[in-house]
Amino acid sequence: MALRQIRYECDEILRKKAKPVKKFDDKLCELLDDMRETMAKNNGVGLAATQVGMLKRAVVIDVGDGGGVIELVNPVISETEGEQERPEGCLSLPGKRGIVKRPVKTKVTAFNRSGEQFEITGEALLSVALNHEIDHLDGVLYVDKVIRMCDPDEEFEDDDEAAEPDGGTTEGKETDAAKTEAVKPDEPDEKEDKL
Ligand SMILES: [Zn+2]
Repeated sequence: MALRQIRYECDEILRKKAKPVKKFDDKLCELLDDMRETMAKNNGVGLAATQVGMLKRAVVIDVGDGGGVIELVNPVISETEGEQERPEGCLSLPGKRGIVKRPVKTKVTAFNRSGEQFEITGEALLSVALNHEIDHLDGVLYVDKVIRMCDPDEEFEDDDEAAEPDGGTTEGKETDAAKTEAVKPDEPDEKEDKL
């Protein structure tokens, strides 16, 4: 396994449409393994192959509910239900968040790495992740759909203290010692919205 370089906002590959996976071979397994590792290392909830510069319709998602990593090859949304608005971030657009309207429930048909078809239904954050990652495969970023961008230190019900641990402001209130005791960068709240 190896870490792959995440592509950022200005990279035009993020705007390209990914091609369906045709061969369920070792190369696909290697890509998925690398994507899992890259997502975990960057504390992400999801990662699309496009985000590591591969125009293939492959996605990994880990919403951190103990259910493990979900791998989706050639995913297609078959059904959606309801609407929800929640803050969303993206590993390709670091340091930003915006409120996006997504379905509350999303049903997706996809293939696993062995080429077997399956169906998955996601609610809440998983529904967001499914939509966000499949958008990536079509060259769409959440900022295209955003209702409004969030303030950097804006807080939401389910993410207290989501500010970057090393983030920009130097308020000069904390000593280095106090900072070490403060929240660790890997805390679950940070993971909440990087897709
Ligand atoms: Zn993203």
